[in-house]
Amino acid sequence: MEKKTYIRPQIRKQYLGAANKFGGYTPPETLSSIDGKSVESLLKEFGSPLFIFSEAVIRKKAQSYKQAFESRYPMFQPTWSYKTNYLNAICKIFHEEGFWAEVVSSFEYQKARKNGIPGNRIIFNGPYKPYAALKLAVSEGARIHIDHLDEIRDLMQISDELGKKLDVSIRISMDTGAYPTWSRFGFNLESGHALEAVRKIAHSNGKLNLIGVHSHIGTFMIDPTSYKKAAIKISAFYKILRDELRQPMQYIDLGGGFVSANKLKGTYLSNASFLPTFDQYAENICSALYDAFSPEEPPALFLESGRALIDEAGYLASSVVGIKTLPTGKRAMVIDAGVNLLYTSTWYDFNISPIKEYAKVYDDVILYGPLCMNIDIVRESCLLPNMSRGDSLVIHPVGAYNVTQWMQFIEMRPAVVLIKANGEVKQIRKRENVDDINHMEME
Ligand SMILES: *Cc1c(COP(=O)(O)O)cnc(C)c1O
Repeated sequence: MEKKTYIRPQIRKQYLGAANKFGGYTPPETLSSIDGKSVESLLKEFGSPLFIFSEAVIRKKAQSYKQAFESRYPMFQPTWSYKTNYLNAICKIFHEEGFWAEVVSSFEYQKARKNGIPGNRIIFNGPYKPYAALKLAVSEGARIHIDHLDEIRDLMQISDELGKKLDVSIRISMDTGAYPTWSRFGFNLESGHALEAVRKIAHSNGKLNLIGVHSHIGTFMIDPTSYKKAAIKISAFYKILRDELRQPMQYIDLGGGFVSANKLKGTYLSNASFLPTFDQYAENICSALYDAFSPEEPPALFLESGRALIDEAGYLASSVVGIKTLPTGKRAMVIDAGVNLLYTSTWYDFNISPIKEYAKVYDDVILYGPLCMNIDIVRESCLLPNMSRGDSLVIHPVGAYNVTQWMQFIEMRPAVVLIKANGEVKQIRKRENVDDINHMEME
């Protein structure tokens, strides 16, 4: 008989899911399958780590979002925020659901065009629109949301070059009671800069027309009444542009910023207890617009949501590569996915779910990623059963911002699969290999 390896005994504090003064340590829930597909077999087929997206969840979110606004508002147009997740297979689902594209760079503009979206269904936001990209977007009829004065000058020059009057829109920032105000984007309302900018446009000698006004007030906005305040202020500004400056105004765009069911660090309550629903956001926005414009028909409403529509549709399956006890006695687990793949771990305490059942005895564990970097921590503290090397777990929700902000520091990016609504599993991005990286280099 083979001699067993000696394992030093340890005394550890066990958590049995009892409540503490912060509202309780919740034992993890097992997640062995996603949309009926076994996580273990997905990992076998595509390797670990692995991003997994659910088409069913995306469509459900997109539809309930549209329902909330379309049922309250006559002219509503949703647009998909590309920077939140611009994997083409994901964008195409939103486009099929009737979303236009909202882009914030020339790269994203090209992505949207290659996804078959015509220029006039693209909103072009962002502080840097290179002249050639801006000119192309203008000539393709894109909706340009001006960020600063130099862009007004660029657009006037483009108007001269193309020999025609251009329809443009303006981005503004304002105080909605949510701080800090995002004043670095667009022109500030309260300081009068927004009014100065629109006067420049209105007096552009027939080169530019204003047709829309936009504001993206922040992200993960927990208080839906911020949108009511924004809608009231933006409506008053819209009327100045239309009635005093005689601009052919068509629409108001209130950006994105709705919450997803993720848990912000430092909050003790469970999400469901305080996060607003799409209906609450819609009620705040639509009622304010009706009030402002009654008895006339209110203008078209555009929104540019990202996070709220995709976060919960994304999962990251990862495997344990090592287990250790820190000098403090705390248990640590090293997994094969870290902050290189989880940019949003800075803000969120993700759910960590083992993919199989264990004895219901838990340890308080710190979850480290694979990087040689002190900050590579996926969770500072979470309860996990007695897992072993090679066991796997699922980190969620991770659908928003991670597959656009992931980085290729010492590790390559993993594969991404989409579980389609018909149950088929489709790989939508290849696992990177060393040749993918090397072929960009020249010696
Ligand atoms: C990032 C961004 C969005 C999407 O924001 P979410 O918080 O993900 O909904 C919308 N509009 C603009 C201009 C953005 O920069």
